[in-house]
Amino acid sequence: MNDYWEKDIETISRTALEELQLASLRSTIAQAARSTFYHEMFDRHGISAEGISSLDDLRSIPFTTKEDLRKNYPYGMSAIPLRECVRLHSSSGTTGNPTVVLHSQRDIDDWANQVARCMYMVGIRNEDVFQNTSGYGMFTGGLGFQYGAELLGALTVPAAAGNTKRQIKFIRDFGATCLHIIPSYATRLAEVMYEEGVDPRRDTKLRVICIGAEPHSEEQRKRIEQLLGVKAYNCFGMSEMNGPGVAFECTEQNGLHIWEDYVIAEIIDPDTLLPVPDGEQGELVLTTLRREAMPLIRYRTRDLTCIIPGDCPCGRTHRRIARFRGRSDDMIILKGVNLFPIQIETILMQFRELGSNYLITLETVGNSDEMLIEVELSDLFTDDYAELQALAREITRRLRDELLLTPRLRLVARGSLPVQEGKAVRVKDLRKLI
Ligand code: AMP
Ligand code: ZN
Repeated sequence: MNDYWEKDIETISRTALEELQLASLRSTIAQAARSTFYHEMFDRHGISAEGISSLDDLRSIPFTTKEDLRKNYPYGMSAIPLRECVRLHSSSGTTGNPTVVLHSQRDIDDWANQVARCMYMVGIRNEDVFQNTSGYGMFTGGLGFQYGAELLGALTVPAAAGNTKRQIKFIRDFGATCLHIIPSYATRLAEVMYEEGVDPRRDTKLRVICIGAEPHSEEQRKRIEQLLGVKAYNCFGMSEMNGPGVAFECTEQNGLHIWEDYVIAEIIDPDTLLPVPDGEQGELVLTTLRREAMPLIRYRTRDLTCIIPGDCPCGRTHRRIARFRGRSDDMIILKGVNLFPIQIETILMQFRELGSNYLITLETVGNSDEMLIEVELSDLFTDDYAELQALAREITRRLRDELLLTPRLRLVARGSLPVQEGKAVRVKDLRKLI
């Protein structure tokens, strides 16, 4: 679909894009210097907008971390007076202070444009009815998509999170054609639809959904597409970078275009902090280019991905990043083996006999640390004991091949694992520290 929201900027030449980035980087540094945090950092390291003569000069600036945001809670990072800010979003965090992100009116308008650009890219138009199943509080998936969809001109249904039966009623009554939904909830929504005798292909007009906010495998995406009879596009965002819309798949579904007029993306080795070549996995580091209220420079996202080399057939020149394997903090280290929950999901989702909800528990048994994987069976499956045993053996074999360790596997009935209203919690770590 070669039709763009902002053709000039989406298909800009790399040279012109880099010139634009350099100019925006200089003004971002000048803007950031107005905040207490960056003012001190720049003073200490002799950094100024005038000193930046190429994009490579960005590398001489220290990283900014989530810890910096926490220490400067709530307003220490703001680069404009509070009276010029119109909104803040805060993410709670499990320990210590939460983080705060401030927005001016221009920041909010920019963000809406960024989201509208993504939605347009996947074929959402003003004749669509767009239902947003995200929470509308501090979580940016609510208001972020709301403003983007309104700018695009779609009819929006701000259903917000929860109450699945009500979601289904809205989808049917209002003729929703598009959804924004987190992947773990998409499979649940589909399950409840089938339980209620609603076949999404026959009884709804759904055709495109935007899924994001949590890691999910390609297998999970395919499953969602099949269950709901839609195309599902991966949407990446984080509150520190506004929220949804930072990077988004186009209809090629071959990685997420990261909007490089809004951010400079670097991929670094999280240990050496040096850049890694395209195609190699590392931590995504982002610098905002248009933020007024709270610019962030070289922000360490902790998200692991890589730049996908090569051009995209859609004609957009903004580079693509790969589906996220998870955050560096999600990595499980068990018996000296490093692995990500998404590797487990990838295997589980290949079994049609399994449902979509699973839970990984790490626990100490005697002197050793073990992994228990509980996964719900799909409705379609038998309760014949011998068949279940055979299935469990086959899944365990595949998991062992992938993970290089043998987890304990428990197949459980549909609906018996806990469900979260927001992002799914896939791992429970109950290991003793000694
Ligand atoms: P929050 O700022 O609370 O919305 O959380 C942002 C984090 O959610 C990111 O740093 C990622 O770890 C995760 N996330 C967001 N979108 C995706 C996605 N499409 N795939 C995987 N993880 C995601
Ligand atoms: Zn593309």
